[in-house]
Amino acid sequence: MSLLVVGSVAYDALESPYGKVERTLGGAATYFSVCASFFTHVNLVAIVGEDFRDVDEAIFRKRKIDLEGLERAKGKCFFWAGKYSENLNERVTLATDLNVFAEFKPLLPEKYRNSKFVFLANIAPDLQRDVLRQVNGKPRLVAMDTMNYWIERTNAELRETLKHVDVLMINDAETRQLSSEHNLLRAANYIFKMGPSTLIVKRGEYGAMMVDANGVFCVPAFPLEEPHDPTGAGDSFAGGFMGYLASAGSKSDLYLRRAMVYGSVMGSFAVERFGLERLLSLRRSEIHARARHFAKLTQFKL
Ligand code: AMP
Repeated sequence: MSLLVVGSVAYDALESPYGKVERTLGGAATYFSVCASFFTHVNLVAIVGEDFRDVDEAIFRKRKIDLEGLERAKGKCFFWAGKYSENLNERVTLATDLNVFAEFKPLLPEKYRNSKFVFLANIAPDLQRDVLRQVNGKPRLVAMDTMNYWIERTNAELRETLKHVDVLMINDAETRQLSSEHNLLRAANYIFKMGPSTLIVKRGEYGAMMVDANGVFCVPAFPLEEPHDPTGAGDSFAGGFMGYLASAGSKSDLYLRRAMVYGSVMGSFAVERFGLERLLSLRRSEIHARARHFAKLTQFKL
């Protein structure tokens, strides 16, 4: 089933103890689309500037990612710079330049309007809502991500967008910031009152937790000896999660649990190398092999 995403397509400057890159293709919608396209066809809504390079466009073109919704505008692409701590668990944002996103008025191509699975990736909440408003009828599943930048600057708009969302997928710090609750289960109850019926908390090297009316389901992060760069891990998780669900066309508990595993699988590949590097060389067979590995990793008898 068709999967629609709106979010940032960006150039990133990244620094971790393993190295540094001055400018590489990034953005939440980029990681999401590349990961989801292993599972299903993706309709991308975003905006890029005159500095968007042909080699980067080719990354999307080579995959099952439709670019009719990718607007080109005068000005520069979204730019983000971040630096990670020694243990990769903390990151500071050094720059966020919205550039062409500041004036973006998304217009959904006709063929995107019947999308049944929608992901509102990290971007201004009013843009997320603008896109959702243009989708015909009620999609089967609407999921969204956000981050401290939007929680702090556009809290009222964010709350308005949340009213229309089924699944909120954010990290533990964002969960606590949004709910003002330290305990994640109490935070989930708070967030359910805002609109979503499912909360997925991404917890970096500690895995991910899903809370909904069925209870709690947890997946570990895949144990890696040498992760290099956590950038985009959350968006890759979302790409695996939503890509798998859209390809299955279901949102039953069984499929949601499997989607959590595919999310964790894609997040684990994303962090193995800098930026998109590992995801660009990834093969479907490796994804399925790692999913089987997850099954072994978590199996036990009682
Ligand atoms: P993650 O590591 O999952 O938080 O995602 C990192 C990606 O999000 C980077 O490639 C950035 O370009 C993008 N990004 C960072 N800050 C923002 C923001 N405020 N809005 C939208 N995208 C952002």
